[in-house]
Amino acid sequence: MSNQQIKVDLAKCDDVNCECGNGLFVQGFTLKRVPGLLIGQPKDTYVNVDQLVCASCMKMFVPPDNKKEEPKPKIEVVN
Ligand SMILES: [Zn+2]
Repeated sequence: MSNQQIKVDLAKCDDVNCECGNGLFVQGFTLKRVPGLLIGQPKDTYVNVDQLVCASCMKMFVPPDNKKEEPKPKIEVVN
């Protein structure tokens, strides 16, 4: 794990658009069902996972490099 902190000026970063061309995303959730057996509980439990959804076509935004499970550095936004 890396605790590296990087300061980012968002004005210098690219905007990300959905493949439909829309640039506005809304927050959504997907749900994961955690089997009770896995956590020693009699019942299954549900965990919501934050997702970004295109506000136009409702397609989930998935960063192209999302397959790599590398620890991400903490990002501090500079105003
Ligand atoms: Zn879209």
